[in-house]
Amino acid sequence: MPTVRFIAYKETLNRKPKHFSTPTVRVSEYYGSHVFNHKAMREFMTKVAFESINDAIEKGTKISREIADQAASAMKSWAISKGSTHYTHWFQPLTGTTAEKHDSFFEPDGEGSAIEKFNGSMLIQQEPDASSFPNGGIRNTFEARGYTAWDPTSPAFVMGTTLCIPTIFVSYTGEALDNKTPLLRALQTVDQSATAVCKYFDKNINKVHSTLGWEQEYFLVDTALFNARPDLVQTGRALLGHAPAKGQQLEDHYFGSIPERVIQFMREVEYEARILGVPIKTRHNEVAPGQFEFAPVFEEANVAVDHNSLFVDLLDKVARRHDFRVLAHEKPFAGINGSGKHNNWSLATNTGVNLLSPSKTPKSNLMFLTFFINTIKAVHDHADLLRASIASAGNDHRLGANEAPPAIISIFIGSQLSQVLDELESIESGKLSPEKKTELKLNVVGKIPEILLDNTDRNRTSPFAFTGNKFEFRAVGSASNCAQSMTVLNMIVSDQLVQFKNQVDGLINGGMKKDDAIFNVLKEYIKASKNIRFEGDGYGEAWRKEAEKRGLANVPDTPRALDAYVTKKSIALFEKTKVMSKVEAVARHEIMLDEYFMKIQIESRVLGDIAGNHIVPTAIRYQNLLLDNVQRLKNILDDETYNEVAKEQLDMIKMISKRISKILADKESMIQARREANKIEDARKRAVAYCDKVRPYFDAIRYEVDKLEMVVDDEYWPLPKFREMLFTR
Ligand code: ADP
Ligand code: MG
Repeated sequence: MPTVRFIAYKETLNRKPKHFSTPTVRVSEYYGSHVFNHKAMREFMTKVAFESINDAIEKGTKISREIADQAASAMKSWAISKGSTHYTHWFQPLTGTTAEKHDSFFEPDGEGSAIEKFNGSMLIQQEPDASSFPNGGIRNTFEARGYTAWDPTSPAFVMGTTLCIPTIFVSYTGEALDNKTPLLRALQTVDQSATAVCKYFDKNINKVHSTLGWEQEYFLVDTALFNARPDLVQTGRALLGHAPAKGQQLEDHYFGSIPERVIQFMREVEYEARILGVPIKTRHNEVAPGQFEFAPVFEEANVAVDHNSLFVDLLDKVARRHDFRVLAHEKPFAGINGSGKHNNWSLATNTGVNLLSPSKTPKSNLMFLTFFINTIKAVHDHADLLRASIASAGNDHRLGANEAPPAIISIFIGSQLSQVLDELESIESGKLSPEKKTELKLNVVGKIPEILLDNTDRNRTSPFAFTGNKFEFRAVGSASNCAQSMTVLNMIVSDQLVQFKNQVDGLINGGMKKDDAIFNVLKEYIKASKNIRFEGDGYGEAWRKEAEKRGLANVPDTPRALDAYVTKKSIALFEKTKVMSKVEAVARHEIMLDEYFMKIQIESRVLGDIAGNHIVPTAIRYQNLLLDNVQRLKNILDDETYNEVAKEQLDMIKMISKRISKILADKESMIQARREANKIEDARKRAVAYCDKVRPYFDAIRYEVDKLEMVVDDEYWPLPKFREMLFTR
């Protein structure tokens, strides 16, 4: 009987690319066609309603009931014109995916007919049956009620035949149960504090928004092979499997041409993304075989976060049409590069200025330096919280492994900007002499754009790097919702800017000139945050040692990294910035710990199952073949010849036996460790037990299985091998 693996592999070899063609070659003709954007709003809404909604988006003003009804009616007409039959409140619960519950527009009119109905209250608020979303004990199950509320700052869209309305998800007592609510609060606080600081430089600035450009890495595996691997199906990563002889060492994939089947898939993804207004710009191969990346043009952070969630959903849907499955996991294949979701971040003003982009005049460059140095200081002061914001069971495998940033948070800024900071650091405290000021302004601050022009040194090993006009947070995992890292980053920068403003104002009130005050405070920050800056190789062992000397934390696992969410310092910060209440922070912490332990629990069960039901029986079958052969040799050969020729096979039989018994013993011990861990009530202790006591068996079992993969007859092996999954097109 051929193995499932063999059948699957044959199927993949026969695949042909599925050609995809867009209605026209001009993207501008269909871009955003399925988004309720300004154009659609103008067409379907009265002027008054349009302006009122716009005010709500721009200034956060309240939307009246009457306007909501008008907006709903316009949205309905527009959505029906796009072929919608249903609508849904679309939100991002803490499970890391998106949630939707579809309701039909039609309603019976009580006289045997039906009408299409959708009014303001249906638009503004819904009550999904939310008892099964994680809530960390905020909602007792007997009052498991939460509601979704319209977020007018992210445009509604039509996906398939459903109108999707971006919403927040909160409990009846007002606590956030989703990823979006804290993000919106963080964006609001950073707007306020950054705007206040901008006033030092330009009175016309009255709004600052955070920008985000994500880069999404992922793997593609053929559907047939995917289905033949229970670990991929159930956990999204290969729990077992020997690395292929040829992996990524030749680095021929990154610059290689994209296979035709993949190109057709990408074209369809791009089309679907663009009609939904997701501005996908780049597509390419990544470093590992079978690994690819998509990136859009950056957008306002809230919209960008929604677009990323939507996009990941879309990737999966479209991949299936091309007989691919997407692996968004951070480390689907051990020994091969993992996947990240780089978050390119900056702040932009209503006057169109990127606050992290150096420009022509010394004055605006002082503004640049202000935001640049405050960001560094914020990351320095809250590195633990930033580390916590990217913690997940999947990312634990990636951080610090094969070409991924380490779990140590540090910042790379390049040698030229390092020099600028060094110069600023060396100025004397207090009032600056007029000569010194002129020199600083002209020769240091004024020259920044020129020196940055040839700033080609890019350090890809840093978790947080300045890349000319933005910071790139590279440690974010491919499967995570960027809301988490963006909430923390914007919040810590916001709080830092408040401190900065207080200090500068203090000096000004004490009689110092504004510029002097700014220089003085920045200089202190440069000193105080110096040890988070690192320009060298972040992958090496040397950095680990150096970081330890500097007192920087290196927290390699999720349960411990998450501690930072509930330290006194963090909770005070969450409360001060109004991003989260203590109850919310504690609940979130618990949810993340639970998610961690459940993921490890599932992996452990799947691993035990595959090892016991697939691998051991296969090894025994092959061992019997060897035993049979040896027995027959013994029958026909004299003792001397037999001893001479059977030795290697006998050794192999012993080796297989040893591995089998090791696997079975480890499997039993792992089950025992799980039982012990399950008894623990405390969420953190349970997660730590899963991390320290259960997880180590994964490597132990895998080691034996991967060795068996190398000796057992290839025809017997039940699971698709890495070389088949990674290189098949
Ligand atoms: P890389 O070489 O790392 O791929 P790119 O220049 O292609 O860098 O940009 C990567 C991402 O950074 C893109 O999504 C881009 O839109 C985004 N980006 C550029 N400028 C900004 C900015 N000011 N704020 C946020 N993201 C930005
Ligand atoms: Mg990048």
